[in-house]
Amino acid sequence: MLADTSVLDTLSPRDFRAGYAEVAKYGLINDPEFFEWLESNWEGIFSGGPERDQAVAHSCRAKAAVVAADELESGNRALLNLGHTFGHSLEGAVAYETERLVHGEGVSIGMVLAHEFSEQLGLCPAEDTKRVIAHMEAVGLPTRIDQIPGQLPPIDTFMDLIAQDKKVSRGQLTFILTKGIGTSYVDKTVSAEPLRAFLEEKLGK
Ligand SMILES: [Zn+2]
Repeated sequence: MLADTSVLDTLSPRDFRAGYAEVAKYGLINDPEFFEWLESNWEGIFSGGPERDQAVAHSCRAKAAVVAADELESGNRALLNLGHTFGHSLEGAVAYETERLVHGEGVSIGMVLAHEFSEQLGLCPAEDTKRVIAHMEAVGLPTRIDQIPGQLPPIDTFMDLIAQDKKVSRGQLTFILTKGIGTSYVDKTVSAEPLRAFLEEKLGK
């Protein structure tokens, strides 16, 4: 099913950008060529050029492919949550006040955090993290927690929000991590301590 892309013209620039985070997500999940294409064609997407319809069509196909693959190998659908565990915790941290953070902005910061955390675990090359940050910045999306206006809750609140968002099995969290752009995977071995240390650093505490 193809989305009616004319509705995109009615979105505020901020909401359009936020929606774009979910488009970029498909490149980051399993399609490095698409991410590369976005790096060179995002301006056409934002200005309403033919690239916009191509990007929307590609994203719809990508979502369908992930869902179809899930029927063969269960669990792949979780890849659609790339950036969302961090993103949801940020949305929760601002009590869903959209003046401070809308969903797609949380996903943008969340996808950057997923790459940075993966990098810290020795999984993702630093060069790939840099590209993700550079692209999100280029389109005007936030990439850092400190870009969220106002006071944020302490680390314990974040850890609680993450535990609520994710099924915790035997003390371990299910996270979407990445080995680089386009090579995301479901990791069920993340333990709370390194995650806490990582987030503490990001919160500047
Ligand atoms: Zn989302």
